[in-house]
Amino acid sequence: YFISIEGPDGAGKSSLIDRLTPKLYALLGDRFFQTREPGGVRISEAIRKIILNNDYSEMDARTEALLFAAARAQHVTEKIRPALAAGKIILSDRFLDSSIAYQGGGRGLGVQEVRQINLFATAGLQPDLTLLLDLPSEVGLARIMKHRKNDVDRMDQDPLAFHQKVRQTYLQLAQADPGRIKVIDACERAEKIADNALQLIQESLKG
Ligand code: C5P
Repeated sequence: YFISIEGPDGAGKSSLIDRLTPKLYALLGDRFFQTREPGGVRISEAIRKIILNNDYSEMDARTEALLFAAARAQHVTEKIRPALAAGKIILSDRFLDSSIAYQGGGRGLGVQEVRQINLFATAGLQPDLTLLLDLPSEVGLARIMKHRKNDVDRMDQDPLAFHQKVRQTYLQLAQADPGRIKVIDACERAEKIADNALQLIQESLKG
């Protein structure tokens, strides 16, 4: 079973995952398996460093999209597919919808185009459940500025309009696929968000 967590920058993905992890370990034990993108395996972590490097401000949007897809391909083959084959329940911090929202929507490469290269990269693998943390872009950006003062990556430099396009694209994806993508209000209290997320995961695992 494959679950991804998605959301724009500053939506609180990391703190949700920190709260969820112990609960999911308690619930699922050894069957629970956690990973992240871009990264997850050696080669993909190396690609992540290239993508996020502040020195590479000249990076073309297509290069960026292909690097994300390349990182994902390695992650899927080396880690996600074997874990699925072993019957694990995988929680991934980001997956294919991030590319569609950031590169397809944010960078304007097109939802269909970016979906295509990513379905090639994953050989068609999609999550069973996706939790989308949603919040106004202004709120997300304000949170980044507050929490990541010394740790700003290349993407954090993008203007508000970019982040708004990312958000809108995520919401369109959710609207088009409500069976898989569940939207969670990321303005709620952290505990409430974690409770909502856990409930959605439990319902989905039962179903
Ligand atoms: O989720 P995390 O903070 O690790 O993501 C790292 C950075 O990569 C973020 O700034 C995010 O906006 C960016 N990103 C992106 N396109 C993707 C995935 C992540 O621009 N497809």
